[in-house]
Amino acid sequence: MNLSATAAAAGPHPLPSYLNADELGPWGNYLQQVDRVIPHLGHLARWAETLKRPKRILIVDVPIQMDDGRIAHFEGYRVQHNISRGPGKGGVRFHQDVTLSEVMALSAWMSIKNAAVNVPYGGAKGGIRVDPKTLSPGELERMTRRYTSEIGIIIGPNKDIPAPDVNTNEQTMAWMMDTYAMNTGSTATGVVTGKPVDLGGSLGRREATGRGVYTVGVEAARHLGLEVAGARVAVQGFGNVGGISAKLFAEAGARIVAVQDHGGSIYCEAGLDVPALLRHVAAAGSVAGFDKAEVLADDKFWDVDCDILIPAALEQQITVHNAHRIKARMVIEGANGPTTPGADDILQSRNILVVPDVIANAGGVTVSYFEWVQDFSSFFWDEEEINARLVKIMKNAFAGVWSVSQDRKVSLRTATFIVACQRILHTRQLRGLYP
Ligand code: GLU
Repeated sequence: MNLSATAAAAGPHPLPSYLNADELGPWGNYLQQVDRVIPHLGHLARWAETLKRPKRILIVDVPIQMDDGRIAHFEGYRVQHNISRGPGKGGVRFHQDVTLSEVMALSAWMSIKNAAVNVPYGGAKGGIRVDPKTLSPGELERMTRRYTSEIGIIIGPNKDIPAPDVNTNEQTMAWMMDTYAMNTGSTATGVVTGKPVDLGGSLGRREATGRGVYTVGVEAARHLGLEVAGARVAVQGFGNVGGISAKLFAEAGARIVAVQDHGGSIYCEAGLDVPALLRHVAAAGSVAGFDKAEVLADDKFWDVDCDILIPAALEQQITVHNAHRIKARMVIEGANGPTTPGADDILQSRNILVVPDVIANAGGVTVSYFEWVQDFSSFFWDEEEINARLVKIMKNAFAGVWSVSQDRKVSLRTATFIVACQRILHTRQLRGLYP
């Protein structure tokens, strides 16, 4: 055995050769989060390297014929980070900034998230590097179908189950399910979740991530002695996660004072009319141009006086450059990876509670799990039952990580990673190494 090679592999931040150290991006943030948890893992730390290496990475070329006859090629990914606890599970995003490092990090955060709420899945994620707004509906469908076909060799109801994420939705999932069904010659509704309800989707799935953000937000506020009714909330991102979260907080009496999205930033001290804003965004594509609010310079969003800040857009939004400006008492991460480890430290030193993504936005995958179970049994539950089960899982998971954070005197993020990594590595150890 070559001992020096073993020693090198066991050192800090071992990098797979396919990643450039200068371009670690979100994966680098994830590695730092893992390093923070290793001292808390006891005998399981022996297996911790598992968490730093995705199990399987597939990079695919996605060629399609454009409407004008040209052939365009897109780069697609599917990463299965860990499948110790069950099949891979996680969304697919279409975005012009998608990179391998990003999809790797997102797949790893899915492993942590699924273990944190204890649904029987590993973690996976997929994406295509494309701005879907530049495609016609036909081009979008052809790209989605070709991508599904290319990753078809590693997905399946018992292997890896995609779902919606940034810029993908129920229609995307319908095309993915149909493509998989055509290729395999059988209807397999459980191959993706987040489908239309008429196609084996679950009631409550569309709202589930926002409902989870709201549920853990209320629990966290209670621990801080913060009243949700009357609380001032700022939201970044007004898609499926930010929009529904804002709606539920507003219905509970909170004032949504600021919203920022890819089109601009708006402010209203008295509280925005959220139903009207949702209608505006559905018609106009962004919050820009909403007439019942003041326009806010984009960078001023981070100075907004508020009690609760909900980043619900993309990664690496709260950094060492703006964390000291945030005025909220707590940050609830609707997005995946919105806060860098350096910013986490600044927020913690300023006594701002961060409810991390891996628990705060786990409501989506929790109802995805319900959808998958319903598909297997072909027996569908009513919305009341789904929401009640969702709230129960989210509250229990939050209470568990809250008590670990109190006992070990660590941030909620590290506490969530402790709970999740112990679950993942325990199953890793039980299964043992093959061969
Ligand atoms: N894309 C969502 C997430 O980041 C949901 C994943 C799923 O339902 O599988 O959690």
